[in-house]
Amino acid sequence: AKEQGKNTFRFFTQELNNNLMEKTLLEMDLRQAISKDELELYYQPQYDMKTGLMTGVEALVRWNHSTKGLISPGTFIPIAEESGLILPIGLWVLETACAQAKTWQCENFQSLRMSVNVSIRQFKQPSFVDEVLDVLHKTGLDPAYLNIEITESMTTDVIYSQKILQRLHTEGIRVSIDDFGTGYSSLSYLSKFPITHLKIDQVFLQDLNSSNTAIIKTIIELAKNLNIDVIAEGVETAEQASFLSTLRCDEVQGYLYSRPLTKDKVEDLLKSFVY
Ligand code: C2E
Ligand code: CA
Ligand code: CA
Ligand code: CA
Repeated sequence: AKEQGKNTFRFFTQELNNNLMEKTLLEMDLRQAISKDELELYYQPQYDMKTGLMTGVEALVRWNHSTKGLISPGTFIPIAEESGLILPIGLWVLETACAQAKTWQCENFQSLRMSVNVSIRQFKQPSFVDEVLDVLHKTGLDPAYLNIEITESMTTDVIYSQKILQRLHTEGIRVSIDDFGTGYSSLSYLSKFPITHLKIDQVFLQDLNSSNTAIIKTIIELAKNLNIDVIAEGVETAEQASFLSTLRCDEVQGYLYSRPLTKDKVEDLLKSFVY
């Protein structure tokens, strides 16, 4: 038994070392990902439930690793956050997304909104708003078409968050709260922040049991009372869509409508609409 315990321990530390090694190696590669042009934005369409029109897209970053292939943000964003690499990566994402939105607008897809995820490290940077304004200025994108997605967990410092969100609001930039309903501070601060959208977390939709349906109903009702638009993400089935439609959810996003697409595929989609 003692022998076995020793082996288990050795195996465990070995695995731990491998993970650490793997992470360190990935971090080294990630450091060069921007300059090697390995990052790419995909765009997932969002639709108005009532009109069926495409209202905008959410930019989602991908990493085309030279040997490992496509790496999802769920894997490398945490590494980027920990190492601080999220700052240059986040800036690259913002610049690329805004430039793309501007290009699409110039090609006559006027009202397309661009949603960009920002991480807590970016949000907490004192220069955050200035950087966003700088990108808007450089790309020429009208602030009204930029939507910044933050999560509840970024807003625990209420005074700081209020200041930042108020500045973004004054500049005409939209802000959504992403993954809404999974944090703890949800209700009390909502009316204090100038938020334009709530995104219902997809976990609630994935299993439409009685408690999740109650939560979704409550979020939509709350948002309506506060005059905030609600978008549901992760919509995969017709059943989920019809449930959301009955509750008069404003917008939807999910595999039922479209997966995240490359910029070329978005262009094909836009051209297929008759305006
Ligand atoms: P998120 O912001 O909550 O993004 C939604 C995730 O759900 C995306 O995963 C999207 O591809 C996926 N999704 C969309 N529709 C469906 C559906 O119908 N069913 C299911 N099961 N999933 C769906 P993705 O692209 O892997 O991104 C994961 C997370 O990585 C994002 O979650 C976001 O937190 C983060 N992320 C992605 N891009 C960026 C970025 O540019 N900057 C930062 N800071 N974070 C990012
Ligand atoms: Ca998001
Ligand atoms: Ca989300
Ligand atoms: Ca999420």
